[in-house]
Formats: sequence, structure tokens, C-alpha cells
Amino acid sequence: MCYAIPGKIQSIDGKTVQVSYFGELRKAYNELHEIAVGDYVYAQGGFIITKVSPGEAEATLSIWKEEFFELQKVDLRISKVNVERSGIDKRLVTILDKASMGQGLGRDDYRYLLGLNDAAALDYLFKTANFLRQKNHGNSCCVHAIIEISNYCKKQCSYCGISALNAGLKRYRMSPEEIIDTAGQAVSDFGFKALVLQSGEDAGYDIRDLEYVIRTIKTKWPSLIFISFGEIGTANLERLYNAGARGLLMRFETSNPAIYRALHPGQGLDARIEHLKAAYKMGYLILTGGLIGLPGQTNEDIVGDILLAQELNAEMFSFGPFIPHFDTPLNANKPADEEMVLKALALSRIIDQKKAKILVTTALETLNPALRKKALASGGNSVMLNMTPLEYRSLYSIYPNRAHEKELIQTQINDTIALLRSLGRAPTDLSI
Ligand code: SAH
Repeated sequence: MCYAIPGKIQSIDGKTVQVSYFGELRKAYNELHEIAVGDYVYAQGGFIITKVSPGEAEATLSIWKEEFFELQKVDLRISKVNVERSGIDKRLVTILDKASMGQGLGRDDYRYLLGLNDAAALDYLFKTANFLRQKNHGNSCCVHAIIEISNYCKKQCSYCGISALNAGLKRYRMSPEEIIDTAGQAVSDFGFKALVLQSGEDAGYDIRDLEYVIRTIKTKWPSLIFISFGEIGTANLERLYNAGARGLLMRFETSNPAIYRALHPGQGLDARIEHLKAAYKMGYLILTGGLIGLPGQTNEDIVGDILLAQELNAEMFSFGPFIPHFDTPLNANKPADEEMVLKALALSRIIDQKKAKILVTTALETLNPALRKKALASGGNSVMLNMTPLEYRSLYSIYPNRAHEKELIQTQINDTIALLRSLGRAPTDLSI
């Protein structure tokens, strides 16, 4: 299976190239040394990842050509907003009409949308978000692989099962060679083009080990690499960028400084935000967001969270439910409300219609497996599959009983592709 469609280089202007996909042109940033007009390439997240031989490209394209347009038709058909508006509150109709036309809304409109409870109103909201997803992003859906390389962590986040406070948890740290092998399998055996490497903070690696890992993966198996190691400092961010990382996954968790302080002893929200801003300036793609359902969090806070993700230039919004972990200070708290998470995803799509990819998190599936499909039909267009070796996966227990904790990657891929096909979605980050 392949999660990208090859494109043909149409023109080159310094580092910027125009790539043609079935005749439609897309801009991409090129960092490869030798590239010429007429070459076939794979691009991800706006970066050219690798050249492809004409034979391989044409074979892949001929499969895609038929399927892609077929899927597009299915998606277009099922993403129409067919709702009976007669019984629906006028204010909702006005707001969603404006949103559908791409007109700006106010903070009180956003709050109002998060406050909806009525089933017909929610259906209308989710369908509008799905319509906007289709209109602006076509039927594309990113499928990234995540490898959780270590569960060592020095931080004491009150909600997190791998926090340093959890003395009972068995800790693991994959060796550089294990990480490289797993990444190699992800790319060469399973066809992933984008990888997320994640760990607790201060996971016990020397920065030179991480540079070596990233450089080796990039050289042997060209791919878009995201790092998610927490606040490693701007000097290290720069070193890992130079080694080849191009994305940073780091949630700010909450935009409310008081909630942040209460849940992160000795840490401040500002430092985390500065980190994200510095990474963006260096050229990293930013994947960020927060937890829905934190104690004391209001709808106004969630609106603030979504607006903050947008302000931080998020390429991908990552908002997922808080799920209590039995070995944390928040063990007696309630998990997030399912509907609130879907509302937050739909609102994210309404707020950032054109740019953002919206992640459907594993945590949401853990709350309820049926929510993955619902979220993909409420504005979501991105998923991450878990490539962490099975012997370690359950130890990365940020929350308990994570979905797919015991599933082979091939099973996850098959199920995901089947689900995407049923919705008319193509497993690629390309929308044409
Ligand atoms: N050290 C990295 C990765 C942290 S773990 C970093 O700081 O970015 C990845 C994410 O898991 C966190 O950002 C947090 O939002 C999420 N998480 C932690 N505990 C959770 C819980 N109990 N429920 C749901 N998500 C949780």
C-alpha cells in the first residue's frame, strides 16, 4: 500500500518546484540535490521526499488514476449537507451558512456551537464541517506512522500515565538501531511516507543519538520525519532539523495558563508556546493542539485552544479527549465527553477551513471505537497508526487500554484503508 501519489516535476524555481498530479499543479519545497523537470517524485506535507523511477511511478499512477477519481465521487456524494432546516434554530442556520461560505465568525458564535446539544443541530454542525473538509481538502486523508521510542519522562504532568510520578511503570528505551529498523519497516515494508518519533521528555538519549537516527532514516528510507520529544530546547530543535526532521508534534495541552499551571508542576505555558514558535521559525511543520475534558476547562477555553493552534500556524490540529489513568493524580476524574471532542474537531475545521489537517486521535477511538468514522465525517482528515513494536506498546501508557494496543500494523492498515474507502477517502495528503 502506498500513502502518496507520485507527481511529475513541471518547473523548478530555486527550492520551489511545481509538481503535476493528474494535470493539477501543486507547489512543493525541494531539498534534494538532483532533480529535473520531468522527474517523478513523492511529496508529503509540501516537501519533496524522494525521486521515484518512471516505471514505478507510472505503475502506481495507473492504479491510482481510476481509484482516486472513483473515491472522489463517493466522497463528494456523501459530504453534501442534506439537512431539514425547518425545525432548526435560526441562529444556527445563519452561523453555519456563513461558515459554509467561508465568512468569518465571532468568538460568541464559536462558543454557541460548542454549546449545542440537540441531535439535529449537532448533525447539521458535523455535516457542515464535513462539507468544508471536502470543499477545501478534497478526499485526502493523511496516514502517518507513529513510533513511541521511549517511555522515560522527567515531567510530572498530572494527567499522564508515563509521568515521572508513576514509579510503578516499567520503563523502556529503544536503542538507535531498533528505532532505525522499525522506521525502515514502516517505510519499506508498509509504505508509510511520514513518520512520527515520540517519547517522554528527557527520554535518555544523547542528542547525537537522535541526530544519527534521523539522518540514517532519511538517507536509507526517505520520509517526512516529525519529532515529538517535548521541550528539547531551541538548540536541539535546530540540530534535529539539520539532521532531517521537518515536523514537530507538540501539544500546548491547554491555552488557559491557570489550568496549565495546575496540571504541570513547575512548568509554564509560555515556555511551551515559545518552543512552538521557535520551531515554526526554523521551518518545522507544526502539529499542535490540546486535551479536551481537563478539569476546570470551559467551552471558552476550548475556543481559545483552537484559536491558539491556528495562531501557531498549525499544519495539523491535534485535539483529543482526556482519559483518566489509574496511576495519576487525576485518576478519579471523568473522561472527556465524546460529543464535545467531535464538536471541537468540527469547530477546528470551521475556524481553519483551508490549511489545517485535523487529526482523529487514538484516544478518541479508545473512548469509543465508532468515533473514528464519526470524526472523519465531522471535519477530520488525518490518522496516525501505531508502529511501536508490540513488546513496548502497552508500556507507552499515557492513558490505559489504548486502541490498537495489541494490533499488528498490517491489521491497522487494512482496517484504516477499508474505513477510508467506505468514506470515499484516499490515504494520501494530497487533495486535488
Ligand atoms: N513528550 C512529548 C510527548 C508527550 S505524550 C511532548 O511533551 O510533547 C503525547 C500526548 O499524550 C501529550 O501531549 C498529551 O496530550 C497526551 N496525553 C497524556 N496523558 C493523556 C491522558 N491521560 N489522556 C489523553 N491524552 C493524554
